[in-house]
Amino acid sequence: MSMNDVMALEHQVYMPTYKRQPIVLARGEGCYVWDEEGTRYLDLVAGIAVNVLGHAHPALVRAIKEQAGTLMHTSNLYYNRPQVEFAEMLVRWTGMEKVFFTNSGAEANETAIKLARKFGKKHRNGAFAIVTARQSFHGRTLTALAATGQEKYQAPFTPLPPGFSHAVYNDLDAIRRLTTDETVAVMLEPIQGESGIHPADAQYLRAVRAWCDERGLLLILDEIQSGIGRTGTYLAAESLGVRGDIVTLAKGLCGGLPAGAVLATGEASSFEPGDHGSTMGGGPLVCAAGIATLHAIEDEGLMANATRVGAYLLDGLRKLKRDTGILARARGRGLMVAIDLEEPWAPDLVNQAREGGLLVNSTGPSTIRMVPPLTITTAEVDEGLAVLGDVLRQR
Ligand code: PLP
Repeated sequence: MSMNDVMALEHQVYMPTYKRQPIVLARGEGCYVWDEEGTRYLDLVAGIAVNVLGHAHPALVRAIKEQAGTLMHTSNLYYNRPQVEFAEMLVRWTGMEKVFFTNSGAEANETAIKLARKFGKKHRNGAFAIVTARQSFHGRTLTALAATGQEKYQAPFTPLPPGFSHAVYNDLDAIRRLTTDETVAVMLEPIQGESGIHPADAQYLRAVRAWCDERGLLLILDEIQSGIGRTGTYLAAESLGVRGDIVTLAKGLCGGLPAGAVLATGEASSFEPGDHGSTMGGGPLVCAAGIATLHAIEDEGLMANATRVGAYLLDGLRKLKRDTGILARARGRGLMVAIDLEEPWAPDLVNQAREGGLLVNSTGPSTIRMVPPLTITTAEVDEGLAVLGDVLRQR
C-alpha cells in the first residue's frame, strides 16, 4: 500500500476531524522522522510537545520493552510499583504532595476540575465556579471545552457544563471582576500554547497567586504543554516563583506514551475513596516510561539544554526577522517558541517547510509553533533555520 493509499483509506474509515499533513510517518530517531517513502524530516513539532526525549530514545525504549514483557496493566484494584515510584519522583521534582494519573491532558483537567469542585463542597460552602482565560486551551472533553476560552471549539457542542467564565489573559483585574462567592478556583496556562505561545507575565502570575490566597481560591495551573522541562524548569511556573495548588501534566510526561497527571498540595487534595478513578491511569507500562523519561531529563541535562538551545532558536528567528522582513515577531520561552507572520500564510509556510524537510505547525493563520524534543542541538536548530530562511526568502 502506497502513502497515497493509506491517506485514501484514512478518508474512508477515519472520522474527518483532523487536517493532516500529506505524509505517512514510518519511523523516528532523535529529532528526525522518516515517512514511508524514506524522506527525512527535522521534527520541530515532536508530536505536539510530546516526544521530549526525541524519537526512539534508547533508555526509554529499553524501559518500555522491559516493562511490557513483565507487567503491562493491572487496573487500580492493586498496587503497582512503577506507579508509586513515578508518583514519588513527581512529588520530589515539583514540590507538590499528591498525584493522580490519567490517560490524557483533557482527562487530567477534568480531574483537576472535579478536585476543585470537591474542595468547594468540603471547604468553601459549595463554591464551584472556575475563572479561566480567554484564548486558553484545556482539552476537548465537554468540561475541558467549557474551561477552554475559545468559542470556535465550543460552539458546535453547546450546551456545555456550567460554572466557567473567561478573563482576559495577563489582566488581574479581569479575574477580580469575575470572582464571586461561587468561585472556587482560577485555572491558567503559565504559557498559552494552542493559541500561539503567549507567556504569562511573571508579575501577573504572582498577582493571581496573591488574589487566590486572599480569596481562598485554588490556583490550577495547566502545565500540559509548558511542563516537563520545556522552558528550563520542570514546571514553567517554577521559574516565575509561583506554585499552583493543583497542576496538570500530560504530553511529554511519559516520553510519548499516553498519560496525564494531576498534582495537588495536601490541602487541595480533597478526593476521598470512591470519588474518582481510571481503569488505565497510572498503569505500570506508562509509569515505567515516565520514570525513564525523568531519569533521562536529569542525566542528560535536558532542562538546561531547553534553556540554552531555546534561546539560540529564538535568537536565530529574530535574525531571520531582520534579514527577511516577513516575520512580525518571534517569541517564547525555552523550547516553546512561535513566530508571527506579517501575512496569514502560515499553512503555506508549513507545507513549504515540509517540502524542504522541516516539520513545524501552525496554531493560526499567521502563527507558526515550534516545540521540538528537549534533546535538540544547536546544529539541528541551524538546519531548521536554514529551511525556514529559504522558505521566507522565496516568499
Ligand atoms: N491543556 C493544554 C495546555 C494543552 O496544550 C492540551 C493539548 O494541546 C490539552 C490541555 C489537552 O491535552 P490532550 O490532547 O492530551 O487531551
